[in-house]
Amino acid sequence: MLVLDKTNYINYRICPRYGWHRLNRGTQFNEDIKEQLYRQGMEVEILSRKLFPGGWEISGERQAAADRTEELIDSGEVKVLYQATALTRDGLLAKADITLIKKDRELHIYEVKMTNDVGLSPDSRDAESRKEKYLYDIAFQKLAFENAGYRVGKVFLIHMNGGYRLKTATVDPNKFFKQVDVGQEVEALLPAVKAEAEQAKACYGGEEPPCECHLKAKGKRCPGFEQFHPELANDDSVYNLNGIRVQRIKTLYERSILKIGEITEEVGVETGLSRKQLNQIAVHRTGRPIIDKPEIASMLNRLKPPLSFLDYEAINYPIPLFADSRPFQQIAFQFSLCVLENGEEEEPAKYEYLLPVASDEELKRLVDELRRVMPAGGSVVVWHQGAEVSFQNNLAELLPEEKTFFEDLNRRIFDLEKIFSGQHYVHPGFKGKTSLKNVAPVLAPELSYSDLNISEGSQASRMWDQALGEADEVRQKIFDDLLRYCHYDTLVMVRIYQHLKRLLARLRPPIC
Ligand code: SF4
Repeated sequence: MLVLDKTNYINYRICPRYGWHRLNRGTQFNEDIKEQLYRQGMEVEILSRKLFPGGWEISGERQAAADRTEELIDSGEVKVLYQATALTRDGLLAKADITLIKKDRELHIYEVKMTNDVGLSPDSRDAESRKEKYLYDIAFQKLAFENAGYRVGKVFLIHMNGGYRLKTATVDPNKFFKQVDVGQEVEALLPAVKAEAEQAKACYGGEEPPCECHLKAKGKRCPGFEQFHPELANDDSVYNLNGIRVQRIKTLYERSILKIGEITEEVGVETGLSRKQLNQIAVHRTGRPIIDKPEIASMLNRLKPPLSFLDYEAINYPIPLFADSRPFQQIAFQFSLCVLENGEEEEPAKYEYLLPVASDEELKRLVDELRRVMPAGGSVVVWHQGAEVSFQNNLAELLPEEKTFFEDLNRRIFDLEKIFSGQHYVHPGFKGKTSLKNVAPVLAPELSYSDLNISEGSQASRMWDQALGEADEVRQKIFDDLLRYCHYDTLVMVRIYQHLKRLLARLRPPIC
């Protein structure tokens, strides 16, 4: 008999084909990210147990775990279970994070969610999709426990309190978590969940379902989209038009246009493509870049030497790591700085700092070091200033005595990406994007991210998190990789800036 656990049920809800592949083929999608989320989720769950101390943990798989759960519930001697398990005759398998045992087989089930927002407060963002995500999940648990012969009296979601700030040496679980009684909402969902669970089992036991996401918006696709549709993910696909909306894709499909190179100027305008998309198509077709030299010159003229090219790497940990920080607050754990004293062709001076441990003392040291090496004046050049400014604001929030320093840095910021996102330099090699990783291969080809062990920001954050738990040698190796990566980001900015300066120099009229 096919056993349907909660994960497979939720995967079916994401998409039948996605769930089918995971269950029947063991197909992997974004596994390293999932592993980190799993590890962090476990930390949050273990912390939540302090709300209901003294429980017994159920271990083992399926039938053995379900039997042990039943034995402890019926013993009358245990009040709290962690990972209580239900396995029904019709093959539903559920493990509840925390279960309180009441009289006569009545249970209160608590599901712990690693989020600040389960969609049930008046100021929730994406309330409907959040509610759907979390309520169907716990409704499945209730269905399975009731079908296994228990009475589920109450169901709660436990989630993190986004306004919590770490004030003591350790996290206070009573302030860190919020509990929401979702009994009514879950009751209303049960008939739908029951029907869906049956459909999921039928689907998983049958043929591979079709994949129809080629006409769905990005947010509706599963993480397997690119694996399932390699033909749509290649550079020439209309899917790679910057910010393309699904409605426009449908229109292009109706005209049998699947490749960027097939979109004429006329069709692009008729289908309502944006200026950015039209530029991307134009450079793709001609193979020649669009370069607005006067505008680039005017932007670069705003720079004041010395030029400080700055980049941070940050982590948004669910359980606050630093005094006064909040759950998921982005906190910089590393910076790299390259300084061009005269703003010209020289080799930059290089500075950097990486937190060897997650401690308040080290965070203070990082800021002290940044203040020590940062020139007192001149422009601070970053790529994508929104992120860098928010990292600086968060540091200022945690270290109020540094507020003036960071306000000054924010005032001096120059966002080099704006030359590209503002469409003053569009190159076919950028593939419609303006991230450093897309611009670098064209304008700074001597610095290849593919030579690095760490090559993008979310990976850097994951690796720093991982490094903290590793033995000395492995940790040092990861730290070296992180330093190299962050330095690359600043050095690539320097090279792009120097490239632009040379480009403009070629424009100047010859001196007679
Ligand atoms: S890409 Fe879309 S249709 Fe295909 S498996 Fe994923 S969610 Fe389902």
